[in-house]
Amino acid sequence: MIAWPTIKKISPLQAIVFTGTISLLIVIAGTAGFFLTQHNLLVAVEKKQACYLDLVDFRGKLIEFEMSRNPEQSLNVAAEELAIKNEQHSEVLLFVYEKLLNEMHEAGFQPFASMNLTRESWPTLLAGENLELLRLDLEKSIEKAKIESKDASVKLVVINEFFLLFILAVLLTLSITAGWMLHNNYRQTLIPLSQLAGQLKLINKNIPESIRDTAEEMKKELTDTEYSSDITQVTRSIMSFCGDIEAKNKKLNELHIRDEKTNLYNYRHFKEHLIIEVERSKRLGEQVSLAMIDIDYFKRYNDTNGHMAGDRALKALADIISMQCRAYDVPSRFGGEEFAVLFPKTDTDTAYEIAKRLRKIISDKSFPHEEHQAAGKLTVSIGIATFPADAADWHNLVNNADRALYKAKSTGRNNVVTFLSMNSQNSKTG
Ligand code: GH3
Ligand code: MG
Ligand code: MG
Repeated sequence: MIAWPTIKKISPLQAIVFTGTISLLIVIAGTAGFFLTQHNLLVAVEKKQACYLDLVDFRGKLIEFEMSRNPEQSLNVAAEELAIKNEQHSEVLLFVYEKLLNEMHEAGFQPFASMNLTRESWPTLLAGENLELLRLDLEKSIEKAKIESKDASVKLVVINEFFLLFILAVLLTLSITAGWMLHNNYRQTLIPLSQLAGQLKLINKNIPESIRDTAEEMKKELTDTEYSSDITQVTRSIMSFCGDIEAKNKKLNELHIRDEKTNLYNYRHFKEHLIIEVERSKRLGEQVSLAMIDIDYFKRYNDTNGHMAGDRALKALADIISMQCRAYDVPSRFGGEEFAVLFPKTDTDTAYEIAKRLRKIISDKSFPHEEHQAAGKLTVSIGIATFPADAADWHNLVNNADRALYKAKSTGRNNVVTFLSMNSQNSKTG
């Protein structure tokens, strides 16, 4: 079995170093082999060419020798002098010939039969028909040397081209292997990441801010560069997951602070703000007012029309309260059919004016089945207290607003009473 898993586990850098080293070794070995072969071939080509030229030269000398022996050309020379001259010429020829044989041997040429001679047989060879035979074999040798030196030159060109191809093949192999390993490694990193993104989406758990930031940064980079679809897919998954989480968190937060039935703020949120506002008012020397609102004879409304109709009336009243509040007021459901509205940075008079307007709007509005109520309509009673004038802390503020509310109830309902008015001569109700 091929050990693929082991190879797959290496990092991209290791993969490149590994393939690079192997390729380098192959290239070094191949280059050394090439230069050795090239050198040998060059030497062979030089020897063969030199031998070819010497063979041609020897042929010229042999022709010269033949002509010098021609009786017509030697008419005016004395026979004795001619013999000496021929003797000398033959010695020179023999010297060149022996050298040539040696050269042929080194260049790898086989001399023809007639050319294989000894020093003793040389005079015989130069005589008559033998010389003719020698000349023919010489011609054959020249032709053969010519062909062989040409072949050696062709071989040299071929080996050069082969080396070029070898280098190209190594580079190609290196690129393919490195590319494959990088791709393999890249998939190993990104596929689990993609699966992780899918899993996160499935389990829908909260994720740290850092992942979201990373995803944002990746998205920014992706706008400039073309990355693989895997990265894009992973980024999109994480981004979409972050979007989902964000939307759900927002919803969760709303659920956490809102009352389900009326969509006003719930008691928890109201209390948190009440404490914060009282503390802030204390610090900054400001005022904060609180209105407690209770539906009049709501038990009767429920008993007559049923709890579902009661719930609808509760919601309709909550909507009116919400509409009449300013952006920074905190309209809340205190519990049952009671509402509490926190008016930050507001004195008693302003709170009283808002409450009066609210009471009137509710009183003037017609609600379904309200004709069965005691006064023939659905109304509310409101009690107001202000910090720090009416209370020293938030507990007291709620209690005193409540007391004002009971006063409003006991003085006929459908009206507004301030805690301040309960303790002063000029009682303030409306
Ligand atoms: P009062 O004018 O003195 O306030 O009379 P009341 O009938 O409103 O007061 P009481 O405390 O006797 O009754 C309160 C009623 O409010 C009883 C209860 O059925 C009703 N109520 C409280 N919460 C809800 C609610 O969520 N939905 C509905 N439909 N009714 C509620
Ligand atoms: Mg009540
Ligand atoms: Mg009531």
